[in-house]
Amino acid sequence: MVATSMEQLASLSKRRGFIFQNADIYGGLQGVYDFGPLGIELKNNLKAAWWRSMVYERDDIEGLDAAILTNRKVLKYSGHEDTFSDPMVDCKKCKGRFRADHIDGKCPNCGSTDLTEPRPFNLMFKTHVGPVENEDNVAYLRPETAQAIFTQFKNVVDATSRKLPFGIAQIGKSFRNEITPRNFIFRVREFEQAELEYFVYPGTDEEWHEKWKEIRLQWWIDQGLKREHINIYKTPKEDLAHYAKACYDIEYQFPHGMEELEGIANRRDYDLGNHTKNQEEFNLEAHCHENKESNTKLCIQDENGKWVIPFVVEPSMGVGRGILAILTEAYNEEDLGDGNTRIVLKLKKHLAPIKVAIIPLKKNNEQIMNKCHELKQKLMKLGIGRVALENTGNIGKAYRRHDEIGTPLCLTVDFETIENQPESVTIRDRDTMEQIRVNTSDLADYLRNYFL
Ligand code: ATP
Repeated sequence: MVATSMEQLASLSKRRGFIFQNADIYGGLQGVYDFGPLGIELKNNLKAAWWRSMVYERDDIEGLDAAILTNRKVLKYSGHEDTFSDPMVDCKKCKGRFRADHIDGKCPNCGSTDLTEPRPFNLMFKTHVGPVENEDNVAYLRPETAQAIFTQFKNVVDATSRKLPFGIAQIGKSFRNEITPRNFIFRVREFEQAELEYFVYPGTDEEWHEKWKEIRLQWWIDQGLKREHINIYKTPKEDLAHYAKACYDIEYQFPHGMEELEGIANRRDYDLGNHTKNQEEFNLEAHCHENKESNTKLCIQDENGKWVIPFVVEPSMGVGRGILAILTEAYNEEDLGDGNTRIVLKLKKHLAPIKVAIIPLKKNNEQIMNKCHELKQKLMKLGIGRVALENTGNIGKAYRRHDEIGTPLCLTVDFETIENQPESVTIRDRDTMEQIRVNTSDLADYLRNYFL
């Protein structure tokens, strides 16, 4: 079973501290969310899994962490200033504003048909750099992380002596002034993206596009999403963005419907072509904007010494959407058969915010508590992730709480632990609820084997 409504996820997220509405005490800021104590752990674990699979487990990808504030020229030549907008219609009656492609001639709010003609609405957040607010010092909050990868292409190539094919990976915040943020954290105004720009020789791009689709699909399955809840959508030629040669969307069955989780686009030489100096020297395939302001040729030498502008294949995912998909998939309400039910979050163990909860059978027993503290000190040094001392003192409540937040193992210190030799604890498995007794001298090996 999976979550069937966004309400289940939003409620669990707030109750247990995964995700909160931003500025909740002031009524919130629409389309902006904060990650709580467990949300930040889950997010860090998901980002680490992405980084590991991209940068550590391969030999052809470098990392980058670029700034959020963006020189206007970057977004002028990328095409965002002119085209990064959704056509909008306003309802003249209730003053609501909607994406033209989301409605069919009628206001979804009040039903009126008295609407304006569609007008472009720019999705970028604008700001000013320095003390004076004028047109000369406009900057933007980046609407995607990708542009800095393109503008730093030459610096990365020079610093690392990379040859094609190779990629640059980046995880970071992006900002879009979405007209209709909705569906919890699915569509928001401030979000994180994990993007790879993979540079290849023209002519090998289609093959790499197929390869990356398969790699990314498998990665999502490795994060716990079931194949039958994923759809690969191939954008029909007539719907492609003008720069793209082909695009796959990895879609997931969210509670509100089958929707995009990650896009994998073949962007040809559009981006490097747009930002390069001396465009005329290169036989650019994409239709690029004229650029007389760039001071660098964004090219690389092929094996014959010829300078080429590579094509790029871009797998781009939303970290928050990933978390929403993973929560949807992991959420289970289980009938325990004795008239009771439990909520259990069946997260993959590498994603679980807390790996091990140490639970005292009796909170007010000094010997038991001392043993719990001692174990915590020892186990947190194993490098398996967060080990938490659960101090509620009621074993039933503690198990329920850790089932709900997806803690794979609960370790209980009881009277046997402090009275009997060899010293042992119980370990309870989240999914099967089975308990085994493990000697404390074997604990480190047991947990290392389980988690690493
Ligand atoms: P959509 O069609 O849903 O607006 P998009 O095609 O504009 O998305 P891209 O520009 O391809 O999205 O961005 C890559 C990824 O970034 C998306 O697959 C999604 O996971 C994430 N993303 C984009 N916009 C948002 C948003 N407003 N809120 C959360 N995640 C987003």
